[in-house]
Amino acid sequence: MNWNALVYTIPLWITLTLSMGIAIYTYKRRQVPGAIPLVLMSLIMGVWSFGYIFELLSKSLREKIFWDNVQMLGGAMGASCLAFALQFTKQKVYLKRRVWFLLFTEPLLIWILAVSNITELFRVNIRMYVGKPFSALIYNMGIASYVDFIFGYSMYFLFVALLIRFFIRSHALYRRQATVIMIGVTVTACGFILLFLGLTPKFMRDPTPFTFTILNLTLVWTIYRYGFLSIVPIARETIFEKMNDGLIALDYNQLIVDMNLSAQIIMDKIPNQVIGQPISNVFPILNPFLKQIELSIQNHSEIILRRDSYEYTYEIEVLPLLNKKHVHNGWLIVMHDISKRKELEKALQASEEKYRNVSEFANDGIVIVQNGLVQYVNKKVLEMIGYDYEEVINYPFNCFVVPELRGKMNEIYRRKLAGEDVKAQYETILLCKSGEYLEVEVNSAVMNYNGESATLGYIRDITERKRAEKILRELATKDPLTKLFNRGHFFTLARDAFEKSITEQYPIWAMMMDIDHFKKVNDQYGHAIGDQVLCAVAEMITYSIRDCDTVGRYGGEEFAILLISLEEEEVKALGEKIRKNIMNTPVNTGKGDIFITVSLGIANRISKDNIDKLFDRADQALYEAKETGRNRVVIYEEK
Ligand code: GH3
Ligand code: MG
Ligand code: MG
Repeated sequence: MNWNALVYTIPLWITLTLSMGIAIYTYKRRQVPGAIPLVLMSLIMGVWSFGYIFELLSKSLREKIFWDNVQMLGGAMGASCLAFALQFTKQKVYLKRRVWFLLFTEPLLIWILAVSNITELFRVNIRMYVGKPFSALIYNMGIASYVDFIFGYSMYFLFVALLIRFFIRSHALYRRQATVIMIGVTVTACGFILLFLGLTPKFMRDPTPFTFTILNLTLVWTIYRYGFLSIVPIARETIFEKMNDGLIALDYNQLIVDMNLSAQIIMDKIPNQVIGQPISNVFPILNPFLKQIELSIQNHSEIILRRDSYEYTYEIEVLPLLNKKHVHNGWLIVMHDISKRKELEKALQASEEKYRNVSEFANDGIVIVQNGLVQYVNKKVLEMIGYDYEEVINYPFNCFVVPELRGKMNEIYRRKLAGEDVKAQYETILLCKSGEYLEVEVNSAVMNYNGESATLGYIRDITERKRAEKILRELATKDPLTKLFNRGHFFTLARDAFEKSITEQYPIWAMMMDIDHFKKVNDQYGHAIGDQVLCAVAEMITYSIRDCDTVGRYGGEEFAILLISLEEEEVKALGEKIRKNIMNTPVNTGKGDIFITVSLGIANRISKDNIDKLFDRADQALYEAKETGRNRVVIYEEK
């Protein structure tokens, strides 16, 4: 062994150790772009150093040539560097199987040539340098060496070019990684140039493996200092590139440093056109916004872009980028697509406007009640109850209902909200600001209002309808002139009262009354005055009888009265009271006071009786009263 050379092999041992370490470390992260070529680079450096160590340590020329042949495998270094740069800078397109094959064919051919060395194409004039500090293998370069040299350096320059381009475009972090690796590789390249220029010591046939020490140290430095091959590139790939939001990184001068795919689509620009350009030139739509950021006014804004005849809205957010020392050195623009949200908002707004218009001009009142409080009323409701909007909103709805119906309304409201089967339509009475009552019909439904359930009520003023109903009811049951029950309705009521008197066993009396010589009143004063007299008589009867008794206009100037629970004397007294009352009370008319008299016939219920027979007997008594001189009361007596 050539132990003299041992001390010189120390850097080579370091290279060997480092490169093997890097190879293993990198292989574990082989999914990171550039990792596989870097594994290759490390292996090559390892093999090269290993070969050189043993070349230096071996004594015979044969042995040295053998180990030199091992080192020749390092010819693939240039190709590996280029492959690394292609992957690291994401030029994956070029890294097809074919390209790999092409890159590594030349080093393989050269290696075969070197190992065989038949034609001295590679090594010329092989000899031993014998002297201090140790003897070494030396030879001159053959033609193939020059070819290999040119080939290797072309690859190296391509490698540098790719990294420089990448350097300009990338984020500061990747710039540092690329820079350190570039320095390392350049040191290696320089070593070869020194050799080429004959500036290396005689015993040092090839300085390259020594330069590998520096390259390896730079690699270790990037790994530890800049997280090279660790999470960061993966994070960039997955978070930055694949994010749906458009991301643009700007440096402090607002020049574009980096952008992701979404940003490229949004701006309709490819990185080549814009990296390194001022954002204000590339994407002027952001300018007013960027001005505001400079003045620290705001960092949120919205922009609208038209693309493929569709309007996109982006929410723009600008985040300051800080370096490790927390010094502001750039911005990250985040562009978040909110087109769908905007579209929905527009649709909602339109529908809400439409709904409000319909509601405001509706003929019915519309009210929304939530948690018992009025949340919305339209103009119509305010017109109905006479309150102002502010006097209604957020007040309990029951304030506007008459006190006697509040309990019932609360119950309906509660059950409606609980989803119980309550009638959707009901009538109630509102309490107006003036204190007046307003009869209304309510149609209610449960709805969602601002995310919570509420009741929607349509309110219709039914005052007119109620009045019409009352009139209709009166027309059906009452005599229009005297307002007493008409004959039909009187007998309906009388029949019920008659039945009830049988079941409950109390006496019931029929009283028939006829105005005496009424024809004369008509003849003397006219029909209209006759009407006045009829009304006055009706009033006097009503006044004389009790609430439990019933009176009706039997027809013309005849009246029928039904009296309950009275004894004969009482009935007779009542009849006399009515007769005297009418006789003594003049009817005031436009043509003076008119005095009239009446005749009355009374009958009571007997066994196996019915209402018709009862009134028939009363009529007979009346007839008798007439016959016996008028202005008298006759109680029917069985003859
Ligand atoms: P008596 O004492 O026998 O009952 O005589 P009288 O004239 O009252 O009897 P009669 O039955 O002959 O006449 C009833 C009159 O009542 C005839 C009719 O003109 C009048 N009369 C009936 N209905 C009305 C009415 O609604 N208005 C007016 N003004 N007169 C009526
Ligand atoms: Mg009559
Ligand atoms: Mg009469």
